[in-house]
Amino acid sequence: MSTESKSIHEFDFSLICEYFSGLERQGPGSPETTLQALKYIKGLNKKSRIADIGCGTGSHTMVMAKHTPGQITSLDLFPDFIQRFNDNAKQHGLEQRVRGITGSMEEPPFTTEELDMIWSEGAIYNIGFEQGIIEWRKFLKPGGYIAVTDASWFTTSRPREIEDFWVKEYPGIDLISVRASQMEKSGYKVVATFILPDYCWTDNYYVPQIARQEEFLKKYAGNKAVLEFVNWQRHEAKLYDKYRKHYGYVFFIGKKL
Ligand code: SAH
Repeated sequence: MSTESKSIHEFDFSLICEYFSGLERQGPGSPETTLQALKYIKGLNKKSRIADIGCGTGSHTMVMAKHTPGQITSLDLFPDFIQRFNDNAKQHGLEQRVRGITGSMEEPPFTTEELDMIWSEGAIYNIGFEQGIIEWRKFLKPGGYIAVTDASWFTTSRPREIEDFWVKEYPGIDLISVRASQMEKSGYKVVATFILPDYCWTDNYYVPQIARQEEFLKKYAGNKAVLEFVNWQRHEAKLYDKYRKHYGYVFFIGKKL
């Protein structure tokens, strides 16, 4: 099987985890876009309860927390990410308000109508956009907000190579208009959607990986699985470079009706 025809899901979890825990971000994004999304969220106060789902090591969470009152519970499947997340919260002096816990987004440990806001950057694809917004809705109070980023198509007709890649990696990828309609059908008012600038994916996500890849290849010289994984990451970055006009990351902000 060539690296190109393999899927990220076929690589060893611990390998993926080690690779990404050495990076500041585990997904595309930027402090600027986190703050831009926050501008649409109204009415939070010191008593607000916020969930941050699929937080990784939490670089965006710290930005969000510094500009948001309330208690934030951040959830990720991987204990290593959560350990780094909590160290990160301490370094930012946020440990009284920001707590990382290990758990699954498929069964988040929140109760009915407990939350004022659900935040999730670059992670909802793990459950699927539509399933995520439907299943998480019950945890929100009426009038509560959801703010998530997800990969979306920008064009209705795409070259075969990129279509095949995404259909395999994330069959749920869809147009912004379809996502907005899914939000409306699931009981949210669409407050805003905006496209993340290219640098969120290039400078902030792919570029930092270049040094990480060299480091990894050196550390695991001769390890075929590592080489395949690094080649897979490089392939993904090349595809973005070639086809970025067809897809990108989008912030979706909704309010529970
Ligand atoms: N929000 C972070 C991480 C994005 S990467 C950032 O933008 O930097 C996606 C994250 O989702 C990873 O940290 C991964 O561990 C987490 N994840 C994957 N499946 C999950 C699940 N079922 N439940 C909770 N987290 C999950």
